[in-house]
Amino acid sequence: MAYWIHSHREERRLKRELEITLEKLEGFKNPKIKLEQYVTPTKLAAFILTQAKIFEDIDIVVDLGCGTGILAIGAALLGGDSLGIDVDHEAVSIAKKNAEKIGVNVDFFVCDVKDFCCKKEVTTIMNPPFGIQKRGADRPFLKKALEISKVVYSIHSAGSEEFVKKVASERSFKVTNVWKFKIPLKRTYSFHEKEFKEIAVEVFRLAKLK
Ligand code: SAH
Repeated sequence: MAYWIHSHREERRLKRELEITLEKLEGFKNPKIKLEQYVTPTKLAAFILTQAKIFEDIDIVVDLGCGTGILAIGAALLGGDSLGIDVDHEAVSIAKKNAEKIGVNVDFFVCDVKDFCCKKEVTTIMNPPFGIQKRGADRPFLKKALEISKVVYSIHSAGSEEFVKKVASERSFKVTNVWKFKIPLKRTYSFHEKEFKEIAVEVFRLAKLK
């Protein structure tokens, strides 16, 4: 397996370097609650991207609901041919500026996830809306990702494992990895009382069955 050709030391170094670079990105200026706009914490983004690199999944990478671009830009930093789409034009314009600032080439487009299509089989790395504001908001993302990808990395709120496994098996995919984290969410919206709130999330790697 690709994993064994890398040392843990090399893995830690790669993750750390990514974190340092991704820290420089701008977040949402005017986050829209309806769209569940939260930036993936840098450490979590770096972890997922490092795993994707180890699994040799970074080739053509699509970030569905890219927001300000952290996952697509991170994938480009690791050598991927990256593309990000988001329904919010303000987010897309920040993402474009972020890519420019870091000096990587990423195509960012304004597009609704349900309207997106691509001809090549890709790796999707995404942090979709969790469906807290609008129940089931993560579904079109998972559906689209499984339609266009050979491998998918996706972040969901804790307790999504059964749902993700079911959707995967219906579409001839297998959940190969589940990583569980508690992530600090910065206070983005005024109705949050504390500066930071911790939430439990699950990160899935899904691979198409041969
Ligand atoms: N992927 C980014 C942002 C995560 S927040 C990151 O990791 O930091 C979820 C993103 O999904 C938001 O940017 C939101 O604008 C976008 N989004 C919500 N509904 C969408 C839809 N129907 N089509 C495309 N993007 C959508």
